[in-house]
Amino acid sequence: MRVPFLDIPGQYKEVRHLIDPAIAEIMETGAYVLGKWNTQLETELAQRHGVKHGIALNSGTDALRIGMQAAGIGPGDEVITTAFTFVATVETIVQVGAVPVFVDVIENTFDINPDLIEAAITPRTKAILPIHLFGQLCDMPAIMDIARRHNLMVLEDAAQAIVTSQDGVMAGGFGICAGVSFYVTKNLGAAGDGGLLLTNDDEVARRSKSLRVHGMGRERYYYDEIGYTSRMAELQAAVLCAKLTRLDAWNERRAEIAERYQAALADSSYDIPYIRPNNECTWHQYTVRHDDREAIMAGLKEDGIDSAIYYPVPLHLHEPYAHFGGGAGSLPVTERVSKQCFSLPVGHHLSDEQADYVIQRLLARQSVTA
Ligand SMILES: *Cc1c(COP(=O)(O)O)cnc(C)c1O
Repeated sequence: MRVPFLDIPGQYKEVRHLIDPAIAEIMETGAYVLGKWNTQLETELAQRHGVKHGIALNSGTDALRIGMQAAGIGPGDEVITTAFTFVATVETIVQVGAVPVFVDVIENTFDINPDLIEAAITPRTKAILPIHLFGQLCDMPAIMDIARRHNLMVLEDAAQAIVTSQDGVMAGGFGICAGVSFYVTKNLGAAGDGGLLLTNDDEVARRSKSLRVHGMGRERYYYDEIGYTSRMAELQAAVLCAKLTRLDAWNERRAEIAERYQAALADSSYDIPYIRPNNECTWHQYTVRHDDREAIMAGLKEDGIDSAIYYPVPLHLHEPYAHFGGGAGSLPVTERVSKQCFSLPVGHHLSDEQADYVIQRLLARQSVTA
């Protein structure tokens, strides 16, 4: 049996009756940017997330960078975050001229450990940037409490947390703004790149809309500040609006598969993901930990089962970011989980039989390697 990690064309097949006519209409009318599909996507997702503004952008990376810049983060500011993330989180901090400050993560949730944040605060600290990794939110009550006491901003990396909530509050409802990604492989994926900034802050929304078109103000070809080219193509917005009609169903199926894994692997030698009781998880990844990762992944490959490592090397150990961190050994939990973690197929394309086959092979492989 083959168990592929993703089935992107399969998503298209489910909604091609919506995508094909929308694409034809866009091509025929010539309304290629900042049109009705952008507006629909922004409105629907702001509503779903319970925030005032959604601003469609070129990528999730741009949503983080533009959000930070619009929130007033810049040269000399320190931003507290983690090194166990996709590079964009930290790359954008550096790109706005700020300095990333790494703190360690919690082992079984892979996200920022609030107990370690206060020790990292200095007079230059401006913001905390928690990453809602793998489809569940960070410990937001603890993070927001620290931010309030130290007068810091919170920006959420919600790239992996579309329609994901904690205590009934969706990602983006905690910090000053949140960046969502529509990269192809995300739970809601474009046919290429796309992103969205979510915010309740009118000024951040106004500045972000200006920054996505070169810092242009209300008048055409008059500039308020130095900006970017970061409009979302209408073709992408139309694809996303079509797939958005299926997102809840797809996430429900993800949860079914994840729960099957959780139950079957609970007493195994795999460390399974811990979901905070106040979290509604959308399972962007199903990530387990095991000391024999390489042997097990090689075995799964022989079995026809795809798996992947998010993320093999934490960012403070990559050359361009090394000088921001304290070197090997400085983030012991981050470094350990990077060596143990691997993710299994959890997309809605899996059948029960495929999920059971993954479980059966995982259990067989653990006894061989134990
Ligand atoms: C995908 C991702 C991003 C970047 O989004 P792009 O749309 O690929 O630019 C940022 N942070 C995290 C945690 C991500 O997973």
